[in-house]
Amino acid sequence: MTAPPARRRVTAPLLPMILALVAAAVLLAAAGCGAGSDSGDRGRLDVVAAESFLADIAQNVAGDRFTVRTLIPPGADPHAFEPAPKDLGEVAAADLVIVNGGGLEGPLLDTLTNVGGSATIVDASAGLKTRTPQPGEPPLGAGQIDPHFWLDPVAVQTYVANIRDAFVKADPSGAAAYAVNAAAYSAKLKQLDAWIKAQVAQIPAQDRTLVMNHASHGYFADRYGFQIVGTVLPGVGTADTPTARQLGDLTQAIRRSGAKAIFVEIDENPQLAEQIAAETGVRVVTDLLDHSLTAAGGVAPTYIAMMKYDTQRIVEAFR
Ligand SMILES: [Zn+2]
Repeated sequence: MTAPPARRRVTAPLLPMILALVAAAVLLAAAGCGAGSDSGDRGRLDVVAAESFLADIAQNVAGDRFTVRTLIPPGADPHAFEPAPKDLGEVAAADLVIVNGGGLEGPLLDTLTNVGGSATIVDASAGLKTRTPQPGEPPLGAGQIDPHFWLDPVAVQTYVANIRDAFVKADPSGAAAYAVNAAAYSAKLKQLDAWIKAQVAQIPAQDRTLVMNHASHGYFADRYGFQIVGTVLPGVGTADTPTARQLGDLTQAIRRSGAKAIFVEIDENPQLAEQIAAETGVRVVTDLLDHSLTAAGGVAPTYIAMMKYDTQRIVEAFR
């Protein structure tokens, strides 16, 4: 048997060709169904959400009117996702593309915006107020926004309202259904908030410190009374590596604060966190899911299940 030919990586010079292919795919799609959104005979929206948690939130608003597709597959880091040509074709053919916003999608957002087609970009976090780091917490870089609003279920109620409004605008005939679905899901988010509060209440208030691999849990910390001691990776994304001095400062901050654990997302490399945990004698939890749902049979196939799973992992680390 001969080995299959090596697959070539997509490199920068291929980009114009990819965009041309995407444009061709859009033209074919338009010619094929011949039913632009103004012809009124589709009755359904074609919606893509960047992240899997966002697709689940949007699906709850859509109800049974249409299925929301996910761009970034479960387990991939949304801070650093690079779409394949096929993904871009799907985005270009969509009516709406829902993104988290706040800088989470980084350069991906530019790609999605420039891909052509008639998709409207919906910023799910529009209108939410960016957090300011708490006293003693490492500062954000110049011009950086913390995009992790969704780890506060109260903020997700704004996502729901933004998504509902975008659906109503694109598909006015579904307005009543979207309003009912959005209200029902918002009620579930309120229950989730109460559930997290009750779980977190098991941790004495003075012990509620978080050391994160990257700055993911600021909004969660603000909502549920945690102090962020520090992050292994500097900045709000996952692209930057820390200097030896930053790691030294973090080690000291962990010792000073009496922090119990370092929390790492399952899609991130836990190596540095494990090193620091070994040095400081704290636990390391390497399987927070906050960037992504699991597949249908997994522990967190929905946004609400993901929040419950992460909360449980955090609460367990303090026992
Ligand atoms: Zn993140």
